[in-house]
Amino acid sequence: MNSPSSNSPSALYLNGEWKNPGPALEVVNPSTGDVIGSISTIDRDGARQAIADADASWAGWKSLTGKERGAYLHAVAAGVEKRADDIARAITLENGKPLAQSKGEIGMTLDHFQWFAEEAKRSYGRVVPNQIPGKRHIVIRQSIGVVGAIAPWNFPLVLAVRKIAPALAAGCPVLLKPASSTPLSSVLLAEAVHEAGLPKGVFQLLVGSSRELGAELMENPSCRKITFTGSTEVGRELIRQSADQVKELSMELGGQAPLVIFNDADMEKALEGALITKFRNGGQSCIASNRIYVQRGIYDAFLEAFVAKASALKVGDGMEDGVDIGPLIDQATADTARTHIEAAVQSGARLLCGGKSPEGRGPNFLKATILADVPEDTLCMKEETFAPVAPVSVFDDEDEAIQRANNTEYGLAAYVFTEDLNRAWRVAEALEAGTIGVNDSVPTTSQCPFGGMKQSGLGRELGTEGLDAFLETKHIAFAQIS
Ligand code: NAP
Repeated sequence: MNSPSSNSPSALYLNGEWKNPGPALEVVNPSTGDVIGSISTIDRDGARQAIADADASWAGWKSLTGKERGAYLHAVAAGVEKRADDIARAITLENGKPLAQSKGEIGMTLDHFQWFAEEAKRSYGRVVPNQIPGKRHIVIRQSIGVVGAIAPWNFPLVLAVRKIAPALAAGCPVLLKPASSTPLSSVLLAEAVHEAGLPKGVFQLLVGSSRELGAELMENPSCRKITFTGSTEVGRELIRQSADQVKELSMELGGQAPLVIFNDADMEKALEGALITKFRNGGQSCIASNRIYVQRGIYDAFLEAFVAKASALKVGDGMEDGVDIGPLIDQATADTARTHIEAAVQSGARLLCGGKSPEGRGPNFLKATILADVPEDTLCMKEETFAPVAPVSVFDDEDEAIQRANNTEYGLAAYVFTEDLNRAWRVAEALEAGTIGVNDSVPTTSQCPFGGMKQSGLGRELGTEGLDAFLETKHIAFAQIS
């Protein structure tokens, strides 16, 4: 297989073979602007054939036991682990994130594979007590069928695997469509699948026009489910398209997570929490804290310490040692961030640090930025900035904090820092988000459900719910058993 630095395009993995069906798409390093590789693309007709091949593989794949499918997943995980250095390098080159964070992404990927390899054995049904004498009722869970998995660029490997691993575990063939800006790590994942010996057609890699491929996945009746991670805007479009076939959907969409810090919080933990939730992945995370609410008693002290720590974060090329924040994925994302900063300042916010590129770096780079006294109705409080921009605002009491934290169309994640156990329970129960971190800046884990309320999505990934998302429920009733 061609490595990300090779001159010839990487091939697509289709029906158990490596193929170059269409023109190559160039992949650009967001740090340098250099072309770091290219990948073959496929058109709508090719996608139709891939769906047919996936459908043909379904009967064999779903007839395996959960234990057998789990063994394949363990083998894929071993292949990913073997290639960990190459995959981490590919992620950093195509996405820009610091190499250490790419390695962290691989760690979580392996954990997801291992979790779902074991969950494959646990797609339990149930026996239901009968109401009519002699009858018997059982409920069984069966794989839903061919799955189209559409993934974003911000965590190109792990977010794809959150779909692929449970779908395969459940007995579903999968077609992965990675983001066009970050397809190279998926090629290495496909190599691991190939090496693990999965039957042909069970896993395939499609790269190409998202509109064309999306339309085929959506309109082809043999593709039974779409699992999508990306923006709420595209998610809404897919939901509309799904109506014609009543296509089953899982939607992991945008977020605008609040981080609420009370006077009684442990200041060091809260600072660490703010740094991680805001600046990890350069702020390009759906669960990034995009609105930081700090109680009045510690507001000034928090801001002073937060600015000191954020200013010390090193911004640069993700391959350089010690870099904390890489480039943004492209200039449009960086420009949006600058627009959000300007709009906040114009509406009265104070720019305490950052707001510009570090010296000698291009427009894709942005220093860790902190805005204070940010009014509630500014752009950055309402829309995802997807950049290392931390808007901070003061609040007085718990009710106000909850009301303002919930004042958004999104509901993916929320964080609360307090040392008061009663308050922690109250606030965690009141916050409208699918995941709440209480003094915890990295709440996501393989064994617990992840997903959004409100316009952050439909359904859940990970946990037992993650497998459920790829299973249909069937009730079988037996008349009079004599
Ligand atoms: P995006 O523009 O919505 O793209 C996501 C994926 O959808 C890409 O593979 C893209 O392909 C594809 N796509 C775009 N238009 C499509 C269409 N009309 N039909 C079918 N597929 C289409 O999102 P993004 O910019 O990559 O990701 C950032 C967004 O994802 C943010 O809003 C973030 O909050 C959200 N996100 C959510 C979660 C979560 O778990 N809830 C996790 C991470 C990110 P191309 O690249 O080829 O256009």
